[in-house]
Amino acid sequence: MRELIDKLSKDKMLESRELISLLKGFTQEDAQYLFTRARAVIDSFFGRKIYIRGLVEITNYCNRDCYYCGIRRSNLKAERYRLGKEEIMQCCENGYELGFRTFVLQGGEDLWYTDEKLVDIIASIRKAYPDCAITLSIGERTYEQYLRYFNAGADRYLLRHESANAEHYGKIHPAGLSIENRKRCLYDLKKIGYQTGAGFMVGSPYQSAEYLAEDLLFIKELEPQMVGIGPFISHKQSPFANFSSGSLELTLFLIGILRLMLPRVLMPATTALGTINPQGRELGILAGANVVMPNLSPIGVRSKYSIYDDKICTGEEAAEGLISLQNRLKKIGYDIVVDRGDFEPE
Ligand code: SAH
Repeated sequence: MRELIDKLSKDKMLESRELISLLKGFTQEDAQYLFTRARAVIDSFFGRKIYIRGLVEITNYCNRDCYYCGIRRSNLKAERYRLGKEEIMQCCENGYELGFRTFVLQGGEDLWYTDEKLVDIIASIRKAYPDCAITLSIGERTYEQYLRYFNAGADRYLLRHESANAEHYGKIHPAGLSIENRKRCLYDLKKIGYQTGAGFMVGSPYQSAEYLAEDLLFIKELEPQMVGIGPFISHKQSPFANFSSGSLELTLFLIGILRLMLPRVLMPATTALGTINPQGRELGILAGANVVMPNLSPIGVRSKYSIYDDKICTGEEAAEGLISLQNRLKKIGYDIVVDRGDFEPE
């Protein structure tokens, strides 16, 4: 296993069969070896800086029906909300004061936000905070729509590909959604000039080492500036209510692999990782992550953005908990910085 990790460290991508044997056969010692390598990469490109992103969950209305997600259209029990422009601007104002220089607007695919409304919101944030990055995470759109948002001032876009394998993609999404379109969106976003983020859930139903190898190879080919991965966590009002959560160990191992594959990538220790383990975020950083995304949504709506059960939203993952998060990261030798934290190409 060490030879494979060494090969990755030398900036050589592994072949599918090598990735599969690594994912199936790694021991805890292999994982520690990988994390040491991943941290050395982090040290050389980023030092001990951790970038923060203020996450504003703008709507939990969604016209998609992804089987894993708690805010899918068919969940009639979800209490729906959406934020208007003034509420979103208020979130940014609070965030700016706390030291955030990136705002991430994430939500379900909600047609209430017409292109006109979105352009107005993006342009208003751009005008009020010229020194901040604006990240969108609102799902699949056309090239023209992505271009309009970009021209209005959006800089980055997060769109996890969820699964690079068409068969697996089809098992976790209803008919009508396709990996072809998802990939088309990602290539469009990159072409337009967004710093683009792909990613997937670890341990989603029916996932295998073979599928994960395809995810890694797709990411290598796409070369995104950001990658987000986190464990799958079931939601009791979803068709996947009875599936167990993804494992902490495998998620951390994949973070380490991704760090070696894409040394400069911006990669969060996700809320889902913090949800399955109280030390999840720190462990993520020690495995190769370098971003955290505290929640900046209005407190009253936070529990409603319930994409999986027991999603944490009031402790260190909340924007108001930034000081205690900073203290926790300090204990492991890292420091939160006030910075846009853009991707730096070679
Ligand atoms: N509608 C947007 C944002 C989705 S929410 C989009 O389609 O991109 C952000 C991410 O949460 C999703 O991409 C998915 O990978 C993750 N997610 C959804 N349900 C989840 C679950 N049950 N467990 C863990 N992660 C989940």
